Amino acid sequence: MTKATAAQLTAIGGSLWEKGTFRRVYFNGPALAGFYGLAHDGWKWTLDGEKISNNSGSAFMSRLNLGKFWYDLTTDDFHSQGMSDAMTAKIVDRIKEALSKASATEAAATETPATIEMSAGHDVSTADGPGVTGRPVHTNRKPGRCRRCGALVSAGEGHLYYIDPDEAYEVSGWVVEHKDPAICREVLAKAHTLLTERAKAYVND
Ligand SMILES: [Zn+2]
Repeated sequence: MTKATAAQLTAIGGSLWEKGTFRRVYFNGPALAGFYGLAHDGWKWTLDGEKISNNSGSAFMSRLNLGKFWYDLTTDDFHSQGMSDAMTAKIVDRIKEALSKASATEAAATETPATIEMSAGHDVSTADGPGVTGRPVHTNRKPGRCRRCGALVSAGEGHLYYIDPDEAYEVSGWVVEHKDPAICREVLAKAHTLLTERAKAYVND
């Protein structure tokens, strides 16, 4: 993976620790539980949304609380102590996922100035090539989910076009997207903030 920075790791719930030549970002038990998908609602434990027994739930939680897990900023890799390899691997995967989501939304947010008028489907690619040039583009008459950001596009505020499933790489059929990509960027930035806040909520739990 590409190097993670202290800022990126603390944004998703880590805490920077420096001493002498050591520079590490530690994740505490509640933060690790969040990445591991372990949750307790006051009644029952769930793992990735699936109910698990109280014994397993408590056992996982105490391992995450007693173990240590950190990212070494000097050697650029993850380490753990007192946790199984499988547990460590799953947490590392989830952290990488959170980091790449965070950087994807950052990239989307800085991509293109909102003043530039974007043509419909300019960032779609199909077997026909990039964009939807040559395809009829309509204005949506019914609300639909935006291809770019997933939010609801009200009638009249979106581009609507058709991509033949045979030519599709990413999306196919009738596709709706916000006419104004600034809306998508805002939605994606908000989603990123929520993700970050959720990770932090686990830490402060
Ligand atoms: Zn959108």
